[in-house]
Amino acid sequence: MITAGLAIGGLGLLAGVGLAIASKVFYVYIDPKVEELEEALPGANCGGCGMPGCSAAAQAIVLGKLAPNCCVGGGPEVHARVAEILGVEVEEREPQIAHIGCRYSVQEADLKYIYDGVDDCRAAVLLAGGPKECPIGCIGLGSCVKACPFEALSMGDDGLPVVDEHLCTGCGTCVRTCPKGIIALTSVTDRILGEYTTDECTAPCQRTCPAGINIPEQIRQTALGNYREALRIIKERNPLPMVCGRICPHPCEFECRRNLHDEPVAINYLKRFVADHERQSGERIELFKAPDTGKRLAVVGGGAEGLSTACFLARLGHSPTIFEAMPELGGLLRKAIAESRLPRDVIDWDINGILELGVEARTGQVLGRDFTIAGLLEQDYQAVILATGGWDAILMRNSGLEQPVPGLYLLLPLSLALAQGTQVQLGKRVVIVGGGEMALDLARKCRGIGAESVDIIFERPQAQLGLSDSDLAKMAEESVSLHFQTTLTRLLGEENRLTHLALTTVPSGNGTARPVRSKESLIAADTIIAAIGRLPEMIFVRVPTGEDEGSPIRWRTISPYHHVPRPVRQEVFTSVDTVTDYRSVVEAIGAGRRAAASTHLFLTGKEVLPPPHMITPDTDVLDVSRLVALQPAAPRQKMPERPAEELVDPSLEIELGLTEEMALTEAARCLNCGLICYLRSRYH
Ligand code: SF4
Ligand code: SF4
Repeated sequence: MITAGLAIGGLGLLAGVGLAIASKVFYVYIDPKVEELEEALPGANCGGCGMPGCSAAAQAIVLGKLAPNCCVGGGPEVHARVAEILGVEVEEREPQIAHIGCRYSVQEADLKYIYDGVDDCRAAVLLAGGPKECPIGCIGLGSCVKACPFEALSMGDDGLPVVDEHLCTGCGTCVRTCPKGIIALTSVTDRILGEYTTDECTAPCQRTCPAGINIPEQIRQTALGNYREALRIIKERNPLPMVCGRICPHPCEFECRRNLHDEPVAINYLKRFVADHERQSGERIELFKAPDTGKRLAVVGGGAEGLSTACFLARLGHSPTIFEAMPELGGLLRKAIAESRLPRDVIDWDINGILELGVEARTGQVLGRDFTIAGLLEQDYQAVILATGGWDAILMRNSGLEQPVPGLYLLLPLSLALAQGTQVQLGKRVVIVGGGEMALDLARKCRGIGAESVDIIFERPQAQLGLSDSDLAKMAEESVSLHFQTTLTRLLGEENRLTHLALTTVPSGNGTARPVRSKESLIAADTIIAAIGRLPEMIFVRVPTGEDEGSPIRWRTISPYHHVPRPVRQEVFTSVDTVTDYRSVVEAIGAGRRAAASTHLFLTGKEVLPPPHMITPDTDVLDVSRLVALQPAAPRQKMPERPAEELVDPSLEIELGLTEEMALTEAARCLNCGLICYLRSRYH
């Protein structure tokens, strides 16, 4: 008995000593902050921060791998507590909310088959992608609802998930669960930056709108009498709704699906109605602005494009200043459109709304005369955005030959000036971009007045340019170098001088492929002569030159991404015209938002590229070619006009706007279209 007791005691002692040694050898230090953070985090293990759970997140925060505000499930209070534990300041982030991108349930949509299997969307999708004809339609079995750790989702009566915005923390569990990819986390900033893609449910009208307004939702809110909400949706994409509501050529209406039945919905009249409603109320709707980034940006041009650029920069949290050559903002809107179509107080109301967002404006400021790009960059503007919109660079100024952008001349005015014997200092190295045979003549002239080297860049291959052998021989005699299938990607300079150009080859084929960045080459240049009609859209940014005080300002350009049929081209000029979206006010507005988005992408360290699968005017998108089960035709509302006898005063507006009753009747005509779904018999 005693022996047994001693043996057990001995074993116990041995085990104790072993454990004591093991605890020393295998000791793992746990930072007390990790434990404190684990306490502070919500414990939902939602994975929204990218970690498998809150414990892993706590460790990653302490190791500096995650930011103090990484916890999407916790919100501002948790962020503040985490920052307190770490002893740091925390920047608040804009909340993200789940958005359901499908509007028609299985009950309403076209089906391939009736699904009667396991009650899980991920199981249903295994059979031919799910029962719906629409490849991106909600299956409706609620896997997202079951997965949400915060009970922020429920299934609505219409068979689609509904998000409770107060409960949604933006953790993204539903996004990761949905097998159809129809849920996205969005913030206002995301929606301002966003482009429609082929992966989303979009209506024909919104895809066609150059500003990209969510038209079905705008009209749905109007039909519900939520006029301010309708206007808020418009202003996410269009900061000039009163102006646009009067003069927009409304390409959306040409694509309106209702054309297949009777007449298009009067989308633009409805836009004007809600915009006028705001003004008549005298109280502007409050627009979201992202937290202040502290970045100052200069926008050159105070027309529709510049105003749009500045507005969206302000909404993205930056501090823009507009530099406008004319005494007032508004550009062509003010100068070229009759007051009876676009009253000046309407322009003022929209522009004042933009200025109230914190946009500064300096008028009477001419680029190249009163300020320079290098000068603005020296004043700590993080970027200078050339957003000159529809102003023709030549016609709208007094002098015939200007060089507002360092080293840049436009081909036509320069040719005219040289023909008239004007003395022009071109420097030693001249590069001509585009211009066909005119470029050859100009190249000879440039050589004649002292240019030591002249290069001509053609985007197209030699065979497509129609240049004869004798043309080429003459160029060789003059030591003019021709570069075919080459395009310009960037301008680089120092102070107010152009120093280099970056070129790249255009791949063979249809010319729509993205120039290969790795093959970009630099050539020295003092002057660039562009065969374009107006100043190109460019973003100028400073190139770091080290810490030396007084070192010269060096700069380079970035091209904003575009929505034109050639969406991925990144070059500065094409041989025909500037790469621009501008043809009407609404296209200038769209181009301005994309210029702001491009600048924002650059400033946040991202590549300036449109999102993959962006819908452009050339994209084939799933659609329907005929409508079924619709009620009889419902005529489109006619715009009331001022009686002819009152039109003696040219300042009086001709079109008077829809009445509320007319607007509601018109809004009810909308089919609330999706890709292939639409209201079949529920509308009247
Ligand atoms: S959103 Fe996705 S997960 Fe949720 S019910 Fe629809 S298909 Fe299923
Ligand atoms: S019916 Fe409505 S949602 Fe459909 S295309 Fe026309 S305006 Fe857009």
